[in-house]
Amino acid sequence: MGEGEESKTRAEAGVEIQERGEIFFFYRPKVGKQQVHGPDDVQRLYIILRPESGERAVEEKQLPNASSRRTQEVNIEKQPLLRFMIMGRKSLPNPAQKRRPYWGFVDMVTTNVQDVKAALQEGEYDSSTRGHRHISAARAVGEGIYRLVRHKQPDTQKSKKSYHTHLIYKLEFPSEDEENEPQNSFNIGREGSFLIMIKNPDVEGDGSRNKRRAQFPAHLQGEFGHTRFHPADPPDYLNFEGCEFLLISASDDIEQELGLELTTAPHECDLVKMFGETTSTQPLLKGTWV
Ligand SMILES: [Zn+2]
Repeated sequence: MGEGEESKTRAEAGVEIQERGEIFFFYRPKVGKQQVHGPDDVQRLYIILRPESGERAVEEKQLPNASSRRTQEVNIEKQPLLRFMIMGRKSLPNPAQKRRPYWGFVDMVTTNVQDVKAALQEGEYDSSTRGHRHISAARAVGEGIYRLVRHKQPDTQKSKKSYHTHLIYKLEFPSEDEENEPQNSFNIGREGSFLIMIKNPDVEGDGSRNKRRAQFPAHLQGEFGHTRFHPADPPDYLNFEGCEFLLISASDDIEQELGLELTTAPHECDLVKMFGETTSTQPLLKGTWV
């Protein structure tokens, strides 16, 4: 297991770990591009979360190809659970722009690593207007550990939603002394802390940018009430395809902000083990575009 460790550096009563796991970043070149030289050649930025432990070992996810609200249970300590997520703006939030929300959605949730490999691999399709088109395989651009964290604020604990949730991560690959050129372009810093909010699929907002709507089970949907957003609590919200979320840059110094330190144990690159045959790993290992 590559989830690393976390330790409290201050007695911060309002900080609770909800979930621990590994985080992987990939980018996809634009259609027809064999080589990426910079962000203009990029079509998509993907984030994969693989939870490995948490407050509850058993999480709830949608059934494969579900069109109903029925769900199944997954023991994340025993079975791989993979959330394949797409960032709308093709980057993580810019730490210099606090409070600016970056939209993303969960494209696929699976317990089968092959499904993710299939989503990352190269492909062909025929376009009626532009003929035969080639899509290059995704490139691996980061591996690290993440936590979902419940953060209660001391003086607002009276109201119901007196807390918010963070997605925090620490990068393991590429190593710090590599060039980190694509990482800088995607705002994938050495570590990051974002507020993460789940969008209520039943409240129409600024035009749904996502084709599919998440079909949350009644007890998760009910948590929203009539509000547009809810903290990512429980993390099971992210186990439903079509789930839309917002990331808002909170801090690039987790220790200072939350009194938490994430420690990665030196180990083999899990991403290479899992997806190395499907994707190019040069951006991940050397920090250069390809
Ligand atoms: Zn916070």
